[in-house]
Amino acid sequence: RSVVYWMRMEDLRIEDNTAFAQASACAKQLGIPIIVLFVISPGDYRIHDRAKRKIDFVLRNLRWVKAKLDKINIPLHVLTYEKRLSIPKKLITELFPQLGATHVFANIEYEVDELRRDIATVRFGQEKGIDVVYVHDRLVVPPGKVLSKQGKPMSVYSPWQRAWAKVLDEQKEFLRMQDVPPGNDKSLRDDPEFGKLFEATPIPDFVDGFKCDDEDVMRECWPEGTDVAKEVLHRFLYTKPRKPQFQLVSPLSEGAEEDAKNSRVAKYQVGRNLVDADNSSKLSPYLAAGVISGRMVLNAARKFGKGGKLDSGRDTGVGMWVQEVAWRDFYNHVMAIWPRVSMGRPFLEKFADVQWEVNEKHLQAWKDGKTGFPIVDAAMRACAKRGWMENRVRMVSASFLVKSLMLDWRLGEKHFMECFIDGDLAANNGGWQWTASTGTDPQPYFRIFNTLTQSEKCDPNGDYIRYWVPELRNLKGKAVHDPYHHMPRNEFKKLGYPEPIVDHKQSRERALFRYKNVGERE
Ligand code: FAD
Repeated sequence: RSVVYWMRMEDLRIEDNTAFAQASACAKQLGIPIIVLFVISPGDYRIHDRAKRKIDFVLRNLRWVKAKLDKINIPLHVLTYEKRLSIPKKLITELFPQLGATHVFANIEYEVDELRRDIATVRFGQEKGIDVVYVHDRLVVPPGKVLSKQGKPMSVYSPWQRAWAKVLDEQKEFLRMQDVPPGNDKSLRDDPEFGKLFEATPIPDFVDGFKCDDEDVMRECWPEGTDVAKEVLHRFLYTKPRKPQFQLVSPLSEGAEEDAKNSRVAKYQVGRNLVDADNSSKLSPYLAAGVISGRMVLNAARKFGKGGKLDSGRDTGVGMWVQEVAWRDFYNHVMAIWPRVSMGRPFLEKFADVQWEVNEKHLQAWKDGKTGFPIVDAAMRACAKRGWMENRVRMVSASFLVKSLMLDWRLGEKHFMECFIDGDLAANNGGWQWTASTGTDPQPYFRIFNTLTQSEKCDPNGDYIRYWVPELRNLKGKAVHDPYHHMPRNEFKKLGYPEPIVDHKQSRERALFRYKNVGERE
């Protein structure tokens, strides 16, 4: 007999992992071994637009986890199931009986497909006498726990965030870290039944159809493992920024001088909106894959803030950062409470029928970073090369696709998922719907980003643009933000850089008209 912890691609760690801790406690109580299971599901990855980089990152972290599990005598059983819909039945009727599993523990995934799969697993389990237990772990505060005074779910971020911080100040258990499982008895390795599990199912080098084309760059920029994630967090909180990280370098590439007063978090209020320096934590790939937990991050932030209230507000860098981290909980709550958002539907249903353009050329120019709008092109090229973008330029490039090119936000959402190493349905969908004015943003649709103003604000000297768009490397002053309108035509032509593919003013008017007259056709 055994207890199984079913690890998912959002909880790739050993520390502070609720399902793993509970599975371990259950195994100890019953006096039977614990086994960790990981199911590779290419069908799921395809249907959910998973980036090859993300799948490679998952496998790398899984190898890291396996090395740690080996040390505590816990076998990691890795399986590939091609047909995603067959997973519940196969697990319950084939795998779990083979492993002698009496209890199975997993952390809840809040996406609709995953919830359906997990409910089916519970149902089949009941028929076969296998206890399948799901627990909250992904978020710091589980969905349904942040409510208005009237006991209703909230969809506007600011009041939601205040209520979230209050829950955390009042209910400290949400910040309590889970015990690290002690592991199995060493004798398990000599056990005729379980011993062979240690070698039986190796982690594949890659998943068919998801071989990463740029694994060397990804491995350099985003090294795997909880130890790395903790170091990234530590440097963000306590050390002086290194050379600009908008470049293609590892977050740990240089020595770090301890200086909490001048650390990135200390300057986050200003820094978070600038893309020309190393300003944000770059923890998103690690948080999205659960290599580090939200609790670990918030406990570190509290320690940095000398244990103060989590609602310390926007008047300190760390207070501001905690509010950003809270967005992760927020968008997951939105997805869990209004599941239509994870099924491609707008949060604000009245915008289901905006008239979108169909323009393959424009879509491709956007993806390739060849729109003639330097900040958008820089961001899109960074995304293509590094699998990651700063928050401000995610908003700017998303807004450009939706409001300037008038292309359906779902096309952009899909492209980001296919490129990002931190691709996460709730955060990505939330970000896109926010920008497309179809989501939870209380601002009306007619607040439209001005790409040029945004560019001058977030990259004042143009360093970010010059790095990612080499055609503009020699431009000085304002020309770098808008070369087409700042240079004689013949000089501009020599750059080899595209002309703007839309006129900002006209496209703004088109967007206003289309949103105002939603449901009508021109
Ligand atoms: P920091 O500023 O250091 O913030 C710390 C952590 O807080 C982040 O790692 C992230 O986990 C969380 N966080 C911060 N801002 C947000 C936010 N707006 N929404 C949700 N979580 C947030 N984030 C993803 O993790 N995956 C995505 O696929 C993703 N897609 C996005 C798409 C669009 C169109 C937009 C506008 C935003 C998207 N974001 C996404 C949110 C945000 O841009 C990134 O989390 C952030 O840029 C990551 O950088 P960081 O780790 O240095 O962030």
